[in-house]
Amino acid sequence: MSKAPTISKEPLPPALAVSPRAVARLKSGHPWVYRSDLATLTSAERIPPGALVRVTDSRGKSLGTAIYSSSSQIAIRMIADKEAQIADFPALVRERLHDAIAYRNHHEIVANTDAYRVVFSEADFLPGLIVDRYNDVLSLQILTQAMDAEPVRGAIMETLVEAFQPAGIVERVDPRIRQLEQLPPRESTLLWGRKSSTIIAMNGADAGQQTSTPRRGKAQSRPAGADPAETQTGIHFHYDGLAGQKTGAFLDQRENYAAAARYAHGDALDVFCYQGGFALHMAGCSTVTGVDISRSALEMADKNAALNGREMEWIEANAFDLLRDYALSGRRYDTIVLDPPAFAKTRRDLRKALGGYKELNLRALRMLKPNGILITCSCSFHVSAAEFLEVVSDAARDTHRSLRLLENRGAAKDHPLLLNVPETGYLKCLIFNVK
Ligand code: SAH
Repeated sequence: MSKAPTISKEPLPPALAVSPRAVARLKSGHPWVYRSDLATLTSAERIPPGALVRVTDSRGKSLGTAIYSSSSQIAIRMIADKEAQIADFPALVRERLHDAIAYRNHHEIVANTDAYRVVFSEADFLPGLIVDRYNDVLSLQILTQAMDAEPVRGAIMETLVEAFQPAGIVERVDPRIRQLEQLPPRESTLLWGRKSSTIIAMNGADAGQQTSTPRRGKAQSRPAGADPAETQTGIHFHYDGLAGQKTGAFLDQRENYAAAARYAHGDALDVFCYQGGFALHMAGCSTVTGVDISRSALEMADKNAALNGREMEWIEANAFDLLRDYALSGRRYDTIVLDPPAFAKTRRDLRKALGGYKELNLRALRMLKPNGILITCSCSFHVSAAEFLEVVSDAARDTHRSLRLLENRGAAKDHPLLLNVPETGYLKCLIFNVK
């Protein structure tokens, strides 16, 4: 007896037409459509929050499938092109999660760390989902209505538990985003398991001369539950998934820490040090001083130093004031790291942001000894790589220093930069020799 073809019981998602401008944008490879580019606003009003929609041009020609947000200015985020018939979003999420995990295991992207980004939203074709792994604790963030729906949450949790067998999964809630997406308020909590804090280890194999005997690959194979500080090489950090409002390492800087370690020497100053990411990787320097305005960040930095058997100086100060005073009083360093918070939150802040970067870089250049190392970063998406380079060039001209570019870097490869989606490439990290 021949089997009748199975016909999906899922109804086809509703269709939504977009403007010619949006069509052009989608064709260029960018997955977003702004609300002002929806051609049929009235039909959009009937679409439930977070639903799947079939996107069409104004003549009804299909452009693919997207997730819809009823409140965000980004009304549509594409998830599949016109060839794919998507009706089961949770199943798609499972598949893409597996893809994201497999991607990171390729090319040894995460071979020497047990802390990395597992899913980076649009860059992993899962718009509005971020998952970070901190050794045996996973941290997830949900930023869109579609990802917040219960069946999708269920699919995410099941897939993560199956793939990682973690000791805990925490959810980090950004209340502002939930408000913008008109999602019911939630608290940051432990969603699964029993553990929300742990110890991570990174850059075991190539952090430079500062590390003890490298054992490449151990980060992946360590049995769950063992004390990582004893079983792993590399630099160790405490991670607390539920403490404070922003916690954990800045995982996007992981490869830049290792690069910094290769060049850092002499007396080193880590400005905007947070919990000591760069400072601890520069432990081979004669002295290391970290500066941050946040006392709780410095307390954690000090604990991290102890965890690695190091002693470092931590200064609680406004970096702008401190650099001005130090530069005036003639302090000199061999290595200076500048890793400030994003100065430009929107394009409107650009001028002010560029002014801030200029001032910091000027002061740092005045304080660097001949043949010094400047490691200067910007995580503002709205400041382009070219604009950032220009600011540093200006500072070099004004201080009459000659800078040779040693490295022009971005975020670690577990934060993929998806071409044609500029928002996925925000971090700049330049390393210079300063004559
Ligand atoms: N370099 C860090 C990340 C820095 S994040 C790492 O790799 O982990 C930016 C840091 O700048 C935060 O810790 C914040 O507390 C600090 N900060 C913000 N404004 C500051 C200011 N005016 N002076 C000093 N620190 C500041």
